[in-house]
Amino acid sequence: MKVVEDPDVLASTTRKWQTNGQVVGLVPTMGALHAGHQSLIERARSMCDRVVVSIFVNPIQFSESSDFLSYPTPIDSDLDMCQTLGVDLVYRPDAKRMYPEGFSTSIHVARLTDAWEGRDRPGHFDGVATVVTKLLAASRADKAFFGQKDFQQCAVLRRLITDLDLDVEMVVCPTVRDHDGLALSSRNERLSAESRRNALAIPTSLRSLQKHFDDGQTESATLCDSIVQALTDNDLVIHYVEIVDSTDLAPVGTAQVGNVVIVAASSGGVRLLDNHILT
Ligand code: AMP
Repeated sequence: MKVVEDPDVLASTTRKWQTNGQVVGLVPTMGALHAGHQSLIERARSMCDRVVVSIFVNPIQFSESSDFLSYPTPIDSDLDMCQTLGVDLVYRPDAKRMYPEGFSTSIHVARLTDAWEGRDRPGHFDGVATVVTKLLAASRADKAFFGQKDFQQCAVLRRLITDLDLDVEMVVCPTVRDHDGLALSSRNERLSAESRRNALAIPTSLRSLQKHFDDGQTESATLCDSIVQALTDNDLVIHYVEIVDSTDLAPVGTAQVGNVVIVAASSGGVRLLDNHILT
């Protein structure tokens, strides 16, 4: 497994592979790899001849510097996981190389970024869109793999790839959960035992919302109220709970199959995201 810091070396390596007819997959990550990232890498491994994993804690997507500075960076175990999973190349640029002096470009995807995470974290999606564009450009990946857990991020990146005619196939992989249902996240390790217990209200209430929906309840407000109640009862601070259209992320009044329930809530100060596509 190659570990590369230089975008030119990344580009020349992938170009050589592609010249030999090999399909290159990219899995962008910020490191602190867990089984959620693992599932993306395994999916890439199964669909591509060569797998590139990028590990880069992207400073420009954090709206709070304390969040950036405390982001976990267990690089040795990350590299071990990549090696074990048969990754061909880990791209690990440093921030000065990624954003050298004079860097002045920002990619802004309009509308889809106005609400939800975009409203609560100003500039976050510009940072994500800019870094993903750079990663796609440097790797020239044929396919790129993202997690459904970050549902709005997927919608924004799908729009970006379409709007900029980027020649890459986007593959969205299902959310991987802990044994008790909590969606895996690099931030979970910041949860105290009590906050983690309380956080279980998120997946539990998403599951019961699906049951209410199965029983015939389709009014969004009523469905969401049951989640709000469960989260409040468990001391979570709610940022939003909504049922939205899966493409434009606009709230729907009457829920139907394919709509997405999106939730952001903090437990013990740790912001957690989850979602569920109604079936
Ligand atoms: P991150 O390192 O948090 O930026 O995440 C890198 C990629 O892994 C993103 O596409 C995430 O959506 C995805 N991801 C994070 N957590 C999970 C999870 N629990 N299940 C599936 N994918 C995930």
